[in-house]
Amino acid sequence: MKNVLLSTRDLRKVYGKRNSKFTALKGIDLEIETGESVAIIGKSGSGKSTLMHLLALLDTPTSGTIKLNGKNTSKLKKRKLNRLRNKEFGFVFQSFFMNSNDTVLNNVILPLKIAGIRRKERRRRAMEALKTVELADKAKNKANDLSGGQKQRVCIARAIINNPKVIFADEPTGNLDSATGAKIEELLFSLNREKGITLIIVTHDEELAQKCSRRIRITDGQIVTDKDTIAKHNKKLIEDSDNDGMLDKSHIKEIEVEEE
Ligand code: ADP
Ligand code: MG
Repeated sequence: MKNVLLSTRDLRKVYGKRNSKFTALKGIDLEIETGESVAIIGKSGSGKSTLMHLLALLDTPTSGTIKLNGKNTSKLKKRKLNRLRNKEFGFVFQSFFMNSNDTVLNNVILPLKIAGIRRKERRRRAMEALKTVELADKAKNKANDLSGGQKQRVCIARAIINNPKVIFADEPTGNLDSATGAKIEELLFSLNREKGITLIIVTHDEELAQKCSRRIRITDGQIVTDKDTIAKHNKKLIEDSDNDGMLDKSHIKEIEVEEE
């Protein structure tokens, strides 16, 4: 049975006004099921991060709808939305890193503070999360004193501390050497396998994308392939666009676009 976690309908995002208007997303329809690992791939500027921010309810669309567990999120009040995000989602974003002058422990604890969890319980769970990412011994260190890979693992510890249903990761291995990147990947996929956490990963890295259960490829604000099938209405787009070596057409079948 399908268990749709997130779905979007004709999602559009326009940045700027009048002359400087830019349409970053041009009508995105998708469904993400619980337990999937989804790679969002495409060239720089194609709209990957914009889409992820909308799915993560960090930003609002210009038009279109986003449903979480079947509920339209546009109707939610800001406070409710913040609480929902804090409870259901974990984030591994480079730019979200953190208070570098504070300790690793305090950085990891933050979502629990927001959720109003008591101090003792906060510490217990933060240490548990740090153990998961093998950084318990760094709990008292300043976040700033860690290596890039360790910082990324702290982000993951913070992302999992609330037992989220979804982890959103924007280029999680982008700035790491390949050995460290591989460890981060392994950690994310083990959370997917063992805890059933849905992964939504924006990446440039074709190898990482291939490890996901599904790839959504975006060009100029539109989905051109999903689950390695070409969106019919976008067949031309894909022929025009992808000369960046990202696209291996051999495993792509043509999609039957289902009408509702
Ligand atoms: P990607 O993550 O695929 O590199 P983004 O989603 O960040 O792409 O951006 C898509 C397009 O929207 C880009 O052309 C970018 O310049 C534009 N864009 C993103 N954020 C803003 C913003 N806040 N204001 C104006 N334009 C933006
Ligand atoms: Mg981006």
